Amino acid sequence: MRLLEYEAKNLLSTYRIPIPRGKIFAINELQNITTPVVLKSQIPVGGRGKLGGVRIIRQQTEIQPTAQAIFNLKIRGFLPSKLLAEEIIDISREFYFSLNINRQTAGIELLAHTGGGVEIESQDTADFFRRDIVNKKFESLTDELADYLDIADKAFLLQGIIENAYRCFIDNDCLLLEINPLVLTSDGRLIAGDAKITVDDAAAFRHLDWQFEDNSTEHNFVILNRDGAVATIANGAGLAMATVDAVTASGLTPANFLDIGGTATSDKVLNCFRQITTLDNIKVIIINIFGGIVRCDEVARAIIDAQRQIPDLPKLAIRLSGNRESEARQLLAQYDLPLFDSLETILEDIS
Ligand code: GDP
Ligand code: MN
Repeated sequence: MRLLEYEAKNLLSTYRIPIPRGKIFAINELQNITTPVVLKSQIPVGGRGKLGGVRIIRQQTEIQPTAQAIFNLKIRGFLPSKLLAEEIIDISREFYFSLNINRQTAGIELLAHTGGGVEIESQDTADFFRRDIVNKKFESLTDELADYLDIADKAFLLQGIIENAYRCFIDNDCLLLEINPLVLTSDGRLIAGDAKITVDDAAAFRHLDWQFEDNSTEHNFVILNRDGAVATIANGAGLAMATVDAVTASGLTPANFLDIGGTATSDKVLNCFRQITTLDNIKVIIINIFGGIVRCDEVARAIIDAQRQIPDLPKLAIRLSGNRESEARQLLAQYDLPLFDSLETILEDIS
C-alpha cells in the first residue's frame, strides 16, 4: 500500500527526519490556511508539480481559488480529498534519495542523484549513486554519498537521514522509501521536500497499528514480481492461484496475485486497479472471475465504472463465466471490452 505524502512525512518525522512544517486540510477548512504557503494535492501518484498539483502561494486572496482548483484537478485519475499546506522552503539544491529492496542481492539499496526534483522521475537509474547497505556501515556510506552530492560539510546531517530512513524502512516493512526532493535549504538544512513510501501489504498482519488512508488496500493483493507484465484479478484463492500459474506456464511473468473475494463492487475493482497501477511494467490486466453468488453483469458494471475513473489503465483481458454471463458480455461490448471464453484464449491472445 502506498502512503499519501503527508502520511509518509509524518512517519519520517517520527524517525527524526526533518520535514517542512505543515498541516492537512479538507475542502471545508480552507479559511484556516494562511500565506505564504505551498499547497499540495494529496493523491497516491507523483508528478504533481508538473501538472499543477503543487502550488506556491504568497497572496492570501489566492488561497481560496487555488485550493479549489487543486481540489478539482484530476491527476492520473485521482482527485484529492485533502491538501497539505506547508511552509515554503527556500531551496538551494534538490537531491534524489531512496531506499528500496534490491532483489538481485536480497539487500536494501540506497539510490541517490545530484539532480533531484521533478525531472528525475523519468530518468534512467543507470547513472545514479547506488549502494547496497551492508552490515549497517553507515559512516563510510555517508562519506561516499556526501562526496557524490558534494555536501561533505553536511555529512553529519546526511548520516542521520540515512540511518533514520533505514530504521524506518526496516521497522515498517517498506518496499520503497523515497525522498525526492531531499532539499538542501539556503540556510544549510537537509529536509524532506516530498516523500513517497510504499509498505508491504503482506506484512500487514504484524502492523495492526497501520491506519493509512489507502484502507482500500486489498490484503489479498500480493506482489509477485514488480517487473511483471501481467496483472491478475480473480475471485477465490484457488482460481487466483490457478490464474497466476497459467500465466507463468504460458511463458509470461505475473506481477501479482489477487483474490478479490466474493463481492466485486466498483469501489473494490477501482481499488484493485489502483494497486495495479503502482506497478510499472503492466501491459495487460487479466480479470478471471467465476460468477457463482456474484453476478457477472455486476462485475462487468464495476469494471466499466472503475475503468472510466483511471484513464490510462493498461489493457483489460476479461473472462467472466457463470451467473448472468451473457448480460455481462453485452454490457462490456458497448465499451469495446470483449469477453474471452477462457483463460487459455486470453493467454493465446497476449503471448
Ligand atoms: P511531485 O511533483 O508530485 O513530486 O511533488 P513535489 O512535492 O516533489 O514538488 C515538486 C517540486 O515543487 C519540487 O521539486 C520543488 O522544486 C517544488 N517545491 C515544492 N515545495 C516547495 C517549496 O516549499 N519551496 C520551493 N521553492 N519549491 C517547492
Ligand atoms: Mn517529488
